[in-house]
Order: sequence, then structure tokens, then C-alpha cells
Amino acid sequence: MKKQSIFPKSLFWIYFGILLLMSGMHTGIYVLSVRQEWNSILQIVVIICYWGLVAAGLTYFTRKKTTQTYEEPMQNLAEATEKVANGDFSVYVPTIHTADKYDYLDYMILDFNHMVEELGSIETLKTDFFANVSHEMKTPLAAISNNAELLSRPGISEEKRRECETVILQASGRMNSLITNMLKLNKLEKQTIRPVVEKYDVAEQIAECVFQFEELLDEKELELEVDMEERAFLYADEELMQLVWTNLLSNALKFTPKNGTITITEQSDSEKTVIAISDNGCGMNDETMQHIFDKFYQGDTSHASAGNGLGLALVKRIVELMDGTVEVESEEGKGSTFRISLMNQSKEEEA
Ligand code: ADP
Repeated sequence: MKKQSIFPKSLFWIYFGILLLMSGMHTGIYVLSVRQEWNSILQIVVIICYWGLVAAGLTYFTRKKTTQTYEEPMQNLAEATEKVANGDFSVYVPTIHTADKYDYLDYMILDFNHMVEELGSIETLKTDFFANVSHEMKTPLAAISNNAELLSRPGISEEKRRECETVILQASGRMNSLITNMLKLNKLEKQTIRPVVEKYDVAEQIAECVFQFEELLDEKELELEVDMEERAFLYADEELMQLVWTNLLSNALKFTPKNGTITITEQSDSEKTVIAISDNGCGMNDETMQHIFDKFYQGDTSHASAGNGLGLALVKRIVELMDGTVEVESEEGKGSTFRISLMNQSKEEEA
């Protein structure tokens, strides 16, 4: 409940006390003037001067109080607003009272500080976002232009030509995936994609995903262990969940060295289904773990060419949209496990 300061009781009692005292003084002056037998003009002048002084004193006191209570905080707020308007988001306006005596002005100041903080973080996000996108675009663009230039040289060997073509194709593929991921993430964040939650067989979906990576699995001679029911049903958006498994599997493959093992397990009860994708690859340190869901974050830069740091941000957003959770366990040098839990019943069914 916000304290209102329309009729400050303290001020009323101060005025009441002062006026009572002053009327006493008035009576005293009157009694003195009668006893001293002042003439009537002097009596009037003394009384007028006396009340004039009282009025001036009270005006001064009231002015001081309003300055302290309203003008100073409003001036501080005006100065802070001007700074924010000029792009300085580091301003902080102190509250007038202590927390137990907050009134509506204090709440206004607190809200202002909060607003500035939010604006500041949006500004940082925007700047970081542009820096990240520009950086992610620059590398493949440079590869495309360098190789296109090499291709245009006369007398280039057949082998070199094929090499340049491969680099151009890879770089354009990388840009394509960056833009697709950015658009998808943006749509998911702005909720322009409405998830279609339906019951479907996730075992079949994961099998299809694994199939996509078959070539890479063979190339790296990775062992794949799957412990899933033949048919396992999920209540989720099938198309979006496809992105989750693809990203998690592609990371597991990317961060696991030759001859490593990737394990997919599924556990269901009446309440939820938990699917875990584990690998015995490079794992992550605590610092990396703290940022893996941040957009554009890439912990292991040696693999940076094969990703853009948006995969796990997408995974998290999708799982959140399905009211599920993502848990990560990882140990540097030992491997990582990503565990996705989803409720087994759709909300409509529960209701
Ligand atoms: P990308 O794979 O494009 O770098 P992601 O958002 O998918 O981006 O992952 C972010 C970071 O999380 C990776 O750069 C990596 O450091 C870390 N990471 C994700 N999955 C694994 C994994 N299975 N093993 C080790 N590190 C991982």
C-alpha cells in the first residue's frame, strides 16, 4: 500500500502548536499594551508587525518543507531524466525517505530507477547484438569474397577451383544457418510462432534426427547408445522439438572427439518424460556453463567455425515455450549431458 502524503499529520500539529503559541503571544502583547497604556495606533502597528512576522516565518517554514519534500527530488528527477534522454543510463536517483516510510514519490523514484536500468540493459543488448551479428557475418563474407577473387584469376588449377567452391559453399551455408536461426529465435521470442502442442512419437523423431547425422557419426567413428522405448509419446510441438534434438545432437557430435560415445536415454512416468543426450567429449568449465544459453556465446572457439552460438539459446526458448526444463551437467574433459523434461499431459487435458 503506497503511503499518501496529501495531509501530513506532522505538519498539521506543527502549525497548530505554532499558532497556539502565537495567539498566546498575541494576548500577551495586548495585555502589555493595555498595562503600558499604549495609544491605539501603536497597539495596531505592533500587532500587525507581530502577525506579519508570524506569517513570514510560517511561509519560510512551508517553503523549506516543500523544497525538501517536492522540489529537490523533482529537480533531481529532472536532471536524471535529462541525462537519460542524452543516453546516460548510469543515473540513479536516491529516494527521499527510508524504506519503511516510502510515499508515492519514493515509489515513483524507485520505478524511474528500475526503468533506467531496464533501458540500459536493452541498449547493451542491442549494441552487443549488432556487434555479434556483424562479427558472425564478416568471417563467412570474407571467405566468400577471397575465394571468389581466387576463382576469377586466370589459369587456376582444377583442384584449387574445387577447394574455393567448397569454401564458398560452406561460408554461404553458415550465413544461411545464422540468418535462419536469428529469424527463428526472434519469432520465438516475440511469440509470433504459436507452438502446436500435440501428442507424437518422439522415439521416431529422434531416430530420424540421428539418421541425418549418420555420415558424421561414421566419419568420427562415434559409438551411439540409445536407451529408449520403441514408442515414446510427447506432448509438444513436433516441428520445434525437431530443432531441439538437432541442435543437441549436433553439439554432442561436434564436441566429442573421434571414437567417443553419444548416449540417448528416455525415461517416462505418468507425469513427465525426460530425454537426455550425453557425450563423453570435451565437456565444459563453470564459466562456459554459465553462458551457454546466451545468444552468440561460443565457449570453445576452436569449433567456432561450425556454429554461431545460437543453438542452445533456441533450445532453451523452445523448451520454455513447452513449459519444460533443460538441465545441463558437464565436467571438463569428461563430457556433458543435456536433459530435457516435458510434462506428459497437455494443459487442456489436465483441465
Ligand atoms: P555453437 O554450438 O554454435 O557454438 P550453441 O549455442 O549450440 O552454439 O552452444 C554454445 C556453447 O556451449 C558452445 O560453443 C560450447 O562451448 C558449449 N557446448 C554446447 N554443447 C556442448 C557439448 N555437448 N559439449 C561441450 N560443450 C558444449
